[in-house]
Amino acid sequence: MSLFYSDVFVLPLPSHHRFPMGKYARLRERLLAEGTFGEDDFRIPEPADDAAVTRAHCPAYLGRVARGELTAAEIRAIGFPWSERMVERSRRSSGATLAAAREALTRGWSANLAGGTHHAFRDRGEGFCVFNDAAIAARALQAEAGLQRIVVIDCDVHQGNGTASIFAGDESVFTFSIHGARNFPFAKEASDLDIELADGTGDEEYLWHLERGLDEALEHSRPQLAFYLAGADPYEGDRLGRLKLTMRGLARRDELVLGTLIRRGIPVAIAMAGGYAHDIEDSIRIHANTILTAEELCPTC
Ligand SMILES: [Zn+2]
Repeated sequence: MSLFYSDVFVLPLPSHHRFPMGKYARLRERLLAEGTFGEDDFRIPEPADDAAVTRAHCPAYLGRVARGELTAAEIRAIGFPWSERMVERSRRSSGATLAAAREALTRGWSANLAGGTHHAFRDRGEGFCVFNDAAIAARALQAEAGLQRIVVIDCDVHQGNGTASIFAGDESVFTFSIHGARNFPFAKEASDLDIELADGTGDEEYLWHLERGLDEALEHSRPQLAFYLAGADPYEGDRLGRLKLTMRGLARRDELVLGTLIRRGIPVAIAMAGGYAHDIEDSIRIHANTILTAEELCPTC
């Protein structure tokens, strides 16, 4: 098994910063301690190079990111101070999703233990997202493996607005996002399929909508590869989520998405996306459950 991580490329943040940078290394430690995976299963990916990044982003934006020439407004929208390490981390995390997608094509599934940076647009970033890892990986697999039909299943509680925008009008990549109607981003883009949920939506209602959305997305896209953004932030204990899914409800969500894909023989690359629980250990447990569920459903891949 190969799971890809970039938690060694930590970007320097002020101590009061609300992005939980530490959760990624703790997720890997938790998965190791749990015993299903060994040290050799965890791999550091190659960084996404300029050719890979510019299939999803415009060269001028990449150039401004790489050279540290983003404007103050662009930096503010991203929410991270610029540093060389921010650039390196963003390239590595995109590289991790790309590596997971390649691995999924041969072994059924794989995961990036970070990523899911779905608020990055072709020419700008926002909401802690610099490069759009799923878009970079989808474009790479189209170029190198000739894939013609890809689906992005985005279950982070925030809409995948960057992904929707990058693939707008592109029939080769179907974008499905299920998210909170009143949550960030407040001006939404149009995915191929959007399901908007009211504040306080709980397990049963969420799963009812997800099952129908998943069927519709797969029916329309007939995908050769899926990206699953398994955000931990629909959780009832999340600071930014506004929904009320329980830990068990999120496990059932993972079983529904991953079980459906695996039963239909659709390779899946998983990215973690958001998770900002009051107790960050809850987010880490939800992310770990996603990986363990995939392994349980598809152990021989
Ligand atoms: Zn989110």
